[in-house]
Amino acid sequence: MGRRRGTRCRGRVRGSYSHDSDVAEDVLSATDIKHWFYCPRIVYFERAMNARADLGSQQEEALRVHERLSGLERRRIGALGRPDLAGAEKEFGVALGSRGLGLRGVVDCVLRLGGEIVPLEYKAMPSQGGRAWPDHKYQLTAYALLIEENYGSTVRRGLIFYEGDGAAIEIRITPMMKAYLRRTIRRIREALVRGEPPPIRVPESKCSGGCGFKWICRPAR
Ligand code: SF4
Repeated sequence: MGRRRGTRCRGRVRGSYSHDSDVAEDVLSATDIKHWFYCPRIVYFERAMNARADLGSQQEEALRVHERLSGLERRRIGALGRPDLAGAEKEFGVALGSRGLGLRGVVDCVLRLGGEIVPLEYKAMPSQGGRAWPDHKYQLTAYALLIEENYGSTVRRGLIFYEGDGAAIEIRITPMMKAYLRRTIRRIREALVRGEPPPIRVPESKCSGGCGFKWICRPAR
């Protein structure tokens, strides 16, 4: 739990919602999904308590990394230098919404090659020893659901590039992961309606408070 949080750019809006600020309060974001899988209390603090994370310079740094990596990717032919994605069309900062799912998100890069659509996400941190972090997998799954609804195309894989160790990781996005995420979205909403803080998942000694909510979380334990 010592990881730092990232941020993301805003971009063109597609789908059911016209702009982030127009979205109804009970619409969850792909970032909420990531936070829930990292630590459900973050979602509780942000959504139920309207508390602000104390992130210092982390957000600015993460934004700088996103902009730099997006800039590199714009100039590159294909994606991440992968032969299987040579010639892919790229769209950056794609904002998507789904009224049915009550979900929204901004995909760093949407890759299109032939009939396939692949979301690509940049992270300003190292991978988990060459593997994707579980919360990032489900953030990518959230993008897959949004892409499927907005583009009418099944998403079977996604990519995460970890700037910290240069790992470009492909994630297979299975029907089981999508079904699990749909159930999780319902559970998050139910938890927010109940208004009770979710239980702590990790021992205090392993939680560095990198989420930015140490100031409110620790005294509440
Ligand atoms: S301080 Fe630790 S336990 Fe509390 S919300 Fe943040 S990550 Fe979760």
